Amino acid sequence: MALTTPGVVPIVPAMACQICRADDAAPFAETGGCKLFRCGVCGFVFMDPLPDAVTVGELYDDAYGGAESGYFAKVDKKLKRARRQLRWLGRLVPSGRFLDAGCNGGFVAEAARQSGYSASGVDPDPVSIAYAREHYPEIDFHQGTVEVYTATAPFDLVYCSEVIEHAPDVNRFVAALAALMRPGAILYLTTPDIAHWRRPRNVLDWDAFCPPAHCVYFSPGNLVTLLARHGLEIVKRRWNPKPGIKLIARKR
Ligand SMILES: [Zn+2]
Repeated sequence: MALTTPGVVPIVPAMACQICRADDAAPFAETGGCKLFRCGVCGFVFMDPLPDAVTVGELYDDAYGGAESGYFAKVDKKLKRARRQLRWLGRLVPSGRFLDAGCNGGFVAEAARQSGYSASGVDPDPVSIAYAREHYPEIDFHQGTVEVYTATAPFDLVYCSEVIEHAPDVNRFVAALAALMRPGAILYLTTPDIAHWRRPRNVLDWDAFCPPAHCVYFSPGNLVTLLARHGLEIVKRRWNPKPGIKLIARKR
């Protein structure tokens, strides 16, 4: 919906909502040269223009600050946390092929391997993948985006935590996840929840609000719609006291 103040150029995004296809977005926030819009129909919040391939590439070169920042420190704690999550997911998928889509330094993939899965990981950040390969040589790691990753066989369990908010084309991203899963396979997905009751009222005060790295923002409702379009049905949504969505979906 265009704002029609006389003499003012309408403030509308160039593209329709990726989730509901509505052409009804209004300005939501502007920070650091990034403009964000909110779909008036489904509440999806997105950058427009979206970051281009060059920007995205720069964002993921040593995205986590590698060893210098200590991101790869506290490995034992990360592995312990991952094993706890996998015990929970293991009730649905006790064994089989596991993929961490957006695997950072490979900690969750390693926990999956220790839990008896055949584990793989994919991440666009070369520094993370180099670390993962060096420390966990038994695991199959690939450097690149989920969107272009092709596996030798489909996966039984796909783990994708805090990654989808980085994807400029969310349909392409979810289609790629779904294509990597066998029918009946389980997806564990987490992302910030822009509609959460505990999200700071001023979105600029929210630590998860960081365009252009996070270029899209979901609410539970529009995320479920997006997943359903790609054949992924919600099995369970995990209650979260923090402004994040945690859900389990199954491929039809
Ligand atoms: Zn929409």
